[in-house]
Amino acid sequence: MLNLTYTYRLKLNQQQSQTYDEWLETSRRVWNFALGERKDWYNSRSCRIDACSLKSEYIIAADAPRPTFASQCKALTQARKANPALNAAHSQMLQQVLRRLEKSFIGMWESGRGFPRFKKQGRMRSLLFPQLGVNPIQGNKVKLPGIGWVKMQLSRPIPDGFVAKQAQVVKKASGWYVMLTLQSDVNVPSFAPHGQPIGIDLGLKSFLATSTGEQIARPRFFVDLQRQLKLLQQRVSSKKLGSKNWRKAQHKVARLHEHIHNTRQDFHFKLAHHLCDQGGMIFTEDLNLKAWAKGMFSKHTLDAGFGEFLSILEWVCWKRGIYFAQVNPHGTSQTCPNCNHHTGKKDLSERVHRCYECGFETDRDVAAAMVLMQRGLAAVGHTVKMLGEGLSNSSLLTQESPVL
Ligand SMILES: [Zn+2]
Repeated sequence: MLNLTYTYRLKLNQQQSQTYDEWLETSRRVWNFALGERKDWYNSRSCRIDACSLKSEYIIAADAPRPTFASQCKALTQARKANPALNAAHSQMLQQVLRRLEKSFIGMWESGRGFPRFKKQGRMRSLLFPQLGVNPIQGNKVKLPGIGWVKMQLSRPIPDGFVAKQAQVVKKASGWYVMLTLQSDVNVPSFAPHGQPIGIDLGLKSFLATSTGEQIARPRFFVDLQRQLKLLQQRVSSKKLGSKNWRKAQHKVARLHEHIHNTRQDFHFKLAHHLCDQGGMIFTEDLNLKAWAKGMFSKHTLDAGFGEFLSILEWVCWKRGIYFAQVNPHGTSQTCPNCNHHTGKKDLSERVHRCYECGFETDRDVAAAMVLMQRGLAAVGHTVKMLGEGLSNSSLLTQESPVL
């Protein structure tokens, strides 16, 4: 089973967008109410027993259970009977708001993220519909809960054999979009490893380096866009909060955010295709296993969006019949790709790999990409031909090397 997410622009008429605007507002209120309920419960537990009751007293019984997703869903069903605005909105969609809240609490408990926040007006931007009706897509139209058939800008066709399972409607600065989760029940053909292997090392100095020696520079235009963003954000803060000019400036910031996202995605897709042009097997580092060097978690790393790039690369590989695998990146910069000798830790500023054992010398990131490729090949059971032809041990030995 394979899931894909495709985003399309929606053309809502005035009535349709009014309905969804109302639903967004209802969702926001549900979020805030449910969050308030949870917050009160926590505060009532953290209240010191000897504290002055004037300062903190919560009228919550000591044995009141902690609000959970299930209990809040139940309460929501009850509240819908009395509240027409709640009743007008799609029930599953509202439950998803509670689920999102639950998830952000889990994120706080498990990953140390911050306490979930109340949402100000206009800050709720998406409606998630976990189920769609039968045949929800016909031609360039999609049938959405509450508003019926809507025209989509079908920027790319929905692939054969895929069914739309869920829809997330997002209100962006430039208009309404739908993110369709498409699911295919057919068995995804997994491609046998074949052809030229390429190892890819994601880095800081360059965006990535390949085992074939290519280095892709980190796109500089992001730096310019970030600068532009900062400027616009400063302009927002100089305006009177909530004023018409403030709103206008805010809108410009949102537009730029969207532009940055699109530009980055475009870059990722082009790069993924470029890599797929060159080989039949692609091995990258498993980012989950990667221990980033201190200071690597800078704006640059986040800006580079490695995780997003890898998922795009995986998808492009699948589309083009190229074998894709992630391998453990542990210690790739400490191993010589030519003789497997352990060369010891390199400082971040050390840009060149120099092996004192065999004299092999190359760019540090390229060396790491070579090690990744060898690990990947070993994992798929291919015999590792060290560096392929042309760079075998014997040819290196005859090479004049300043180190030896
Ligand atoms: Zn070596």
